[in-house]
Formats: sequence, structure tokens, C-alpha cells
Amino acid sequence: MNDSRERASHTGVVETSYDGVREALRKYDVVIGIEVHCQLATATKIFSSSAVAFGGSPNTHVDPTCVGLPGALPVLNEACVDLALRMGIATECHIPRVSVFERKNYFYPDLPKGFQITQFAQPVCRDGHVALASGKVVRIQRIQLEEDAGKNLHVGSASLCDYNRAGVGLIEVVSHPDMGTPEEASEYVRRLHQLAVSLGVSDGDLERGNFRADANVSLKPKGSPNLGQRTETKNVNSFRFLERAIAREVERQFEILESGGRVVLETRGYDSEADRGFSQRSKEEAHDYRYFPEPDLPPVIVTEQRIARVRGELPELPEARAARYVAVHGLSERDAASIASLRSAWMWFDAAMAHPILSGKVDGKTVAHFLQAEVLRLARVRADAAGRSLDELDEIGGLPVAVDAGTHILALVGEGTLSLRMARDVVDEVVATGASPADVVRAKGLVQVSDEGAIAALIERVLADNPKSVADYLAGKEKLMAFFVGQAMKLGQGKLNPAKVNEALAQALQLLRG
Ligand code: MN
Repeated sequence: MNDSRERASHTGVVETSYDGVREALRKYDVVIGIEVHCQLATATKIFSSSAVAFGGSPNTHVDPTCVGLPGALPVLNEACVDLALRMGIATECHIPRVSVFERKNYFYPDLPKGFQITQFAQPVCRDGHVALASGKVVRIQRIQLEEDAGKNLHVGSASLCDYNRAGVGLIEVVSHPDMGTPEEASEYVRRLHQLAVSLGVSDGDLERGNFRADANVSLKPKGSPNLGQRTETKNVNSFRFLERAIAREVERQFEILESGGRVVLETRGYDSEADRGFSQRSKEEAHDYRYFPEPDLPPVIVTEQRIARVRGELPELPEARAARYVAVHGLSERDAASIASLRSAWMWFDAAMAHPILSGKVDGKTVAHFLQAEVLRLARVRADAAGRSLDELDEIGGLPVAVDAGTHILALVGEGTLSLRMARDVVDEVVATGASPADVVRAKGLVQVSDEGAIAALIERVLADNPKSVADYLAGKEKLMAFFVGQAMKLGQGKLNPAKVNEALAQALQLLRG
């Protein structure tokens, strides 16, 4: 990141860790827009009463409407509208009073009606935005309600259709092409995911395809007002892979443009194992979807009262949560924002702060420190091993340290039995062996020494063993204090209470100064 450059736009400094992208950014602006399809967490489908369920035998969650039998009529599931409104309110969208469902006509076996019911000219929400950590704002064009398609399975030479997913409610969130690096794009998608999950809009299950992103990527000469030809990379279901897929696509387009070639409009896929994009189909002849308003569904009317009700039902948003951590628990803004932005982390923090074993023993800062330095450190190891990022922890069993175990260790810190340094050894052992914190403490004989007599004796030894350093200290080299503390902690095998050591050392040296 040492080679970042200023860019003459509202984005300020453009930073990327991808060498190929950095190279392209010397001559070009990278322009990225994202479409996210997010499955709505409702019990039933968007236009019929079949269950939304994953995994059932093929074609067991179906009904005449979602498989498009003649004469079957759609009825809107109002819960889907409420969830779309939640997302719209959280991203500060404009919510029009009227939105309209339309038919998007195309022929494919996973779409038994021959058209998808979606929204087009009048979506349920529009003109919102999401802010990134840098302060940069990514504008949201629209949030539309639509139904999912079924699934085609290819078995040997046969193609089979499973319509369990057909008619499941989705929102499609379409951004403006406001992102300029793969990192910005993946941060934007992470933030949408975090919102969708924390608002209960979606379970956000990436593995099952319940939250998937398409990236539109193009390059244009630096500062040019005209957009270059874009490509669309579809259905990437991991934040990390999305970032890489975009980086590879930027590099590919850069090479084409530099060698005098022409980027063609196409739909692309990304092979995460080979770390390579590939062409799926060219879009030379643009589809004509022949959109027209769905005659079997009336327009959706959203009243002010309804918006107010949904707003009142919204759970705490990440920014409000971070502000609460600062005000109530005394966390720094940085720590508060980082914990509030990761669902598994804030759930852990909230549960720990409410745990009776901690009451009055440790403050919020200590809990936050332990969470970040130990629990999330180990979580990162687990995520890395699985090729995942921290946002995807739910996919691999969540945080490695249960709240019960963590608060037990923190209580021992609060009581002075363990130092934070020793707490790290305990938590490592608990995660490695599955033993309880109490057993680990007992087995390792880990008890912090706070006994003043014992500490004073050790300090006497340290000062006696280092007469030159003592003389230097007394002559004004006060920095040597840290050296004495280090020596004492070493002699005490890391078990001394550091606050007591500092106190006793200061006293002993003061006496010598006489
Ligand atoms: Mn769509």
C-alpha cells in the first residue's frame, strides 16, 4: 500500500494491495458497480404460500403459482415488502409511495412461467447510500423486490429442474458505479451483508447462495468523462473471492486496452481455485426482456405510517451500536466501530457485558481488548485456515471462544488471579484442548503473584544483579525502568502482577535515590 496515489475525484486517495490494479491505476480509472441479490428471511415465498426451506427433496416446496401453472395467481407476501423497507431505511433510500411489479420475459428451464416477476421502472426503494470506513460514500441506485428462479442440475447427460427455490423473495440492491478498487467493492458488499444480517432482512448465508454479488467492471482513461466498456462477473458468493475476481478482471482489461484491443460486453464467471475469470456468454445481442407491468398484481402502496412502523421495528444499526459502546462502555471510537461492524463480535461483546460473572469485575475496555486481542486473533487463524474472512465466521462455526469460557477467564483477570498475558495462555489452551478455563489454570499452576513480599524480594534481586543499570538510572536514564520491569517479570516467569511490580520498583528506586 506504499504506492498509493492521489486521484482527482471525490474518492481522495486510492489504495489497493493488488499490484496489477495499482499498475492499471497509473493510467486508468477503475469503475466498479455492484448488484447484490439477497434472499429475504421470510417463512414463505414472495407470491405463494410454499415454505422457504433449504435442502428438502427436489420439488417438495412448490405450489401452482411458483411453478407457473396456468390459472394460478400471485398474492404478494407483505413481509417481503417490510424487509425491503428495512434495507431501504437503513441505507437512507427514498421510499416512493407507489412501486410496481413487472414481468421480465426470458426463456430458461429454471423459470417455469417464462418470465420473472421483478420491479423495473418503479422499484420499492431508490437513491440511498452506504458509507465506507474511509468516509467515501457509495450511492445505491435502487432496491427492487423480485422472485428467485429454480435450479438446474446436470446429472450425466440429463438436466433436472428443482423448483424449491423458485418464487423465494429477493431484494436486488443496485449500486452506482462508485467504487474504484477491488477493496472498496468488497468493503461495500461486506457492509450490505452486515446490514442485511443485523437487520434480520436475510440470513446472509453465502454458502447457500442466499447473498450473492455481481460486479460490473470497466476501465477508462484517467479523468475521462466517458465510461469504458464493462463486463459483468456474476454470482461470486465470497467477499474475498469477489475482491480477487475484480482484481483479475481489472488486470485482464488493462492488458487488452494496453495492447490496443477492445473489451467486449460479456457475462463472466470466476474460478476461485484457479484464481481466474472466464467468459460465460457474450452479450453482443442485448436481451430484450420486454418488461411490462404485471397484470395480476396491483401496485404496492407504501404509506408514511407503514414506513414509520418499520422504522420503529428496526433493530439497532451498527453506527448506533458503536456510539452506545463509546457512551456506555467507554470504548474508543475505533474499537467500538470495529466491534460493532462484525456481527459475531458485537454479539459476543453484548453477551459478555451482560454476563453476571463479570458484574463489576472488569470494564468494557478490558472486555473489548480481550475480544480483539485473543478471541478475534484465534478466529482469524480459524478463518484463514478455511480460506474465509472474519465476516464469514458463521459459515465455519462462529467464534472459537464461547462467551462462557471467555467471561470466566476475564473474571479471573478482574479478580487479579490472571494477568492479561496469562489470560492469553489460558485462552490458547482452552481453544487447543477444549478444557475449561478453571482446569487450565489449575493444571498450569497459573496464578498471578500479587504478594508484595514476594515481589519485593524479586525486585531486590534484579537491582542487585544489575548495579551498572541502577547507577545509570540514578544518573538520569529513566528509560531503564522498563528494563527493570522486564527483568522482574522474567524472574517471576510472567506471573507477577505488573501493576504491583511497577509500584514496588518505583518505591525501591526512590529509596536508593535517597
Ligand atoms: Mn435480479
